[in-house]
Amino acid sequence: MNQRATQPAPDQEAPTFVRELITLGTSSQVPTRFRNHNGYLLRYADQDLLLDPGEGTQRQLARAGLRADRIRKILVTHFHGDHSLGLAGMMQRICLEGGEGPVHVLFPASGHAFYERMLEASIYERTVDFVPVPIERQGLVFDDDRFKIWARRLSHSVETFGYRIEEQGDDGQTVAHVMDTRRCKNAVWLATDVDLLVSECTYLASEEREAKDRGHMTARHAAQVAKEANAGRLILTHFSQRYTRSRPFLQEAKPIFHDVKAARDLARFPFGPGAAAVEAARQRTKE
Ligand SMILES: [Zn+2]
Ligand SMILES: [Zn+2]
Repeated sequence: MNQRATQPAPDQEAPTFVRELITLGTSSQVPTRFRNHNGYLLRYADQDLLLDPGEGTQRQLARAGLRADRIRKILVTHFHGDHSLGLAGMMQRICLEGGEGPVHVLFPASGHAFYERMLEASIYERTVDFVPVPIERQGLVFDDDRFKIWARRLSHSVETFGYRIEEQGDDGQTVAHVMDTRRCKNAVWLATDVDLLVSECTYLASEEREAKDRGHMTARHAAQVAKEANAGRLILTHFSQRYTRSRPFLQEAKPIFHDVKAARDLARFPFGPGAAAVEAARQRTKE
């Protein structure tokens, strides 16, 4: 087996560490033949952040050739299964791989019981210090010398917080994680002037009625949020199982917001300094 294929991007692609978003899973509600439950890994030079780990996130991480021991923060927007069922497995995996911790776990305070159950779901040696950060009200919810993380309430069927992750320092990048929600002011607030906006878009505009009823956005909504917020790049994800192709989502979003990509499982989106060079190099190897 080709060893390199299972490893993170080779270092020779860029002289320094290049930040990346890896979309581990991109399906809403249920995993499909082609898409896993949600799961997003943000890679920084010194640590990884894991967002909304749905069922099967462990396996997706392995398929991406990544380890769990660099994860220092886990952010959960809400406790629907497609955003949280993987929490138990991932916490155990971090321990198994000898993660150093502490690992901060951010989630809506109303779901504290679910967090506790995930933490105690089965037998394992808890060698890592997991620090729960239950969020009761929106605002600045985490602050250290590396990251400021802001939470804002979104408009879904259950209590949901979106996140704005501001990396500190001169080159610091800002990422917004917006899911699940109807189009709302807080989504725009979270995404204002970010480098990268990761947004749910469960439906196409033809299903706008259903989107509103169920507390979700269409591709057009997500593009409108990105435009209004002056985001740098938009990554669309969290697609309903009824759609097997992502092209219609891009066709709907692009006329409103040009720099948009549709996520697929295990896709890698470099961002920040050096990202353009990495993307160009990958494009060349594809051609
Ligand atoms: Zn969802
Ligand atoms: Zn949901």
